[in-house]
This record gives sequence, C-alpha cells and structure tokens, in this order.
Amino acid sequence: MAEPVFQRLALIGIGLIGGSIARAARERGDLAAETVVFAPTERTRARARALGLGDRVTDTLAEAVTGADGVILCTPVGAYAGLAEAIAPHLAPGAILSDVGSTKQSVIRDVAPFVPPGVQFVPAHPLAGTEHSGPDSGFATLFEGRWCLLTPLPGASETAIRQIETLWQRLGSRTARMDPAHHDRVVAIVSHLPHLIAFTICGTADSLEEETEEEILQFAAAGFRDFTRIAASDPVMWRDIFLNNREALLDMLARFTEDAQSMARAVRWGDGAYIEDRIARGRKIRRSLIERNQA
Ligand code: NAP
Repeated sequence: MAEPVFQRLALIGIGLIGGSIARAARERGDLAAETVVFAPTERTRARARALGLGDRVTDTLAEAVTGADGVILCTPVGAYAGLAEAIAPHLAPGAILSDVGSTKQSVIRDVAPFVPPGVQFVPAHPLAGTEHSGPDSGFATLFEGRWCLLTPLPGASETAIRQIETLWQRLGSRTARMDPAHHDRVVAIVSHLPHLIAFTICGTADSLEEETEEEILQFAAAGFRDFTRIAASDPVMWRDIFLNNREALLDMLARFTEDAQSMARAVRWGDGAYIEDRIARGRKIRRSLIERNQA
C-alpha cells in the first residue's frame, strides 16, 4: 500500500464532508496514519465517537492540530476566520492547512492572514454533497467521480498542492486548479443560484394561504419535490455561502432575472418558438451532464 498522505490528519468539523473524509480514511490506509477530529458540541463529538470517526475526538482546537501535518477546515465558511486565528499558534511548521469551503475568495481573505510562516495553505472545494448534514450523514464514497477544485495562492509550494491533490484523488475525485475569483463565479451558477432559487420557491409556497399550502404538500409534483430536496439543506451553511459569495451570486441572480423576464414576456405574448428554444437548451445541458457522468 502507498504511504499515507498525512501522518496525522486533523479534521476541524465532522459533518457531512468531514465525516465522509473520516470514513474514507478509516476504510483506506493511504490517507492518514492517524485522524484527529474536532467538533464544538458534545452531541456531535459523542456521535463521532459512536460512529468511529477519527482515532481521537477532541473538544480542543489546540489539541486537534498540535502535531498534525495535515489540517482540513470542514465547518461552515463563516467560522473560518475565528478558527484560523485560534489554530494558528498551534500549527506545526511544515504542516499543510486546507479546507473544503464552498466559497474561495472569502476563505483566502479570512484564513491567509493567520497562516504562520512555514505552514502551507492550500484551499480546496469538493464539488460533492447532499442536502443532509451532521456526522451521521457522511459516507466514504461521497467524493467518488466528483471534481475537487483547488485554488492555490501565488507562490504556494508545488509539493503541498500535489499532496492535497493526491488526498482528493485517493478519495476518488478528479482535481483541477482554478483562480479563486473564477471558482466563485462558476459555483455561483452551478450551485449557489440553484439553491437560492430552491429556497425562494419553497418560501413562496410556504407563504401562500394555508389551504393552498396544504394542497401544495398533498399534490407536490416532481418539479416542486426536486426543489424541496435542495431546500432541505443546512441553513447556517447556506447563509454563510450566500454572504461570502455575495458579488458573484448577485451577478448570476441579475442575469437569471433578466432571462426569467424574457421567458415571462414570451409567455405573455405567446412566443412559442422562444419558449421551445429555451426548453431545448435545458435538455441539451441535461444530456451533456449525463454524457460526462455528472448527472
Ligand atoms: P455540516 O454537516 O453541517 O457539519 C459542519 C461541522 O462544522 C459540524 O461538525 C459542526 O460541529 C462544525 N461547526 C459548525 N459551526 C462551527 C464553528 N463555529 N466552529 C467550529 N466548528 C463548527 O456541514 P458540511 O455539509 O459538512 O459542510 C462543511 C463545509 O463543507 C462547509 O464550508 C460547506 O460550504 C462545504 N461543502 C459542503 C457541501 C455540501 O453539500 N454539504 C459540499 C461541498 C462543500 P457541531 O455539530 O458540533 O456544531
């Protein structure tokens, strides 16, 4: 078996993403020789222990990262600045600090200033997930066949970047490097805007009169049901994503609103050709996704 990527890997946060990494680390011997897990609440720590996530579970950030050669932040991105500041004095020289956050410019803004000399910071974002959260929701195969995008800082050590790429490749992902601003625009359209729309549609349905709402639940059609699945995602995580990818999200929302207005106009004026063309484009995108095994 190949040498483990890390001798001691610290996972800060043990929900869907951290829990999935921990499960894969337990199943495969080549990710980490030892895994240490931190979570702030006793409830989550108790679940992590019961599920056997990590070789050690701690309530102390300093204890989690001391002596670790790999540290991955796996909490909502709004917590990153405080966590980075708290762990910085305890990071071992030569350690690699990485993350899984869904926004990348904000993560670099919040974490990079605290990274001590001698520690390499390699931001990453696995494009894998579900609407479930917490330590029970993870599974070892979550990242298989999915992309993991790395947004290394200029001048970052090539060895450290390769180490994080190896970690994600062993987790089953394909890796790509991307500029952080470009990353934030790409995920704004493929992930953040669809979530915003799903939360909004469910909010609209919820604010309709009681009687109609009951019928919405009773007769929910496939289209609405698909939105409710996305809208079941964790509120804190998504609040943090929206607030930390504000510009790109608002830009994509403005474009979407213009296109929705054009569709509304076509509906109002009976422009069937326009409507058909737009739906055909949607089908084309779906087909391309299936062909790329990303559906
Ligand atoms: P999750 O299941 O809700 O787990 C979050 C973990 O972070 C929990 O262990 C929680 O501990 C801990 N945590 C929460 N607030 C904290 C704080 N202020 N300080 C320290 N720890 C804190 O979340 P997740 O889905 O794994 O998401 C984690 C990260 O991955 C997020 O940054 C998200 O943007 C990113 N991501 C998510 C997905 C997805 O689909 N879910 C996909 C790609 C990337 P307690 O339970 O003890 O509070």
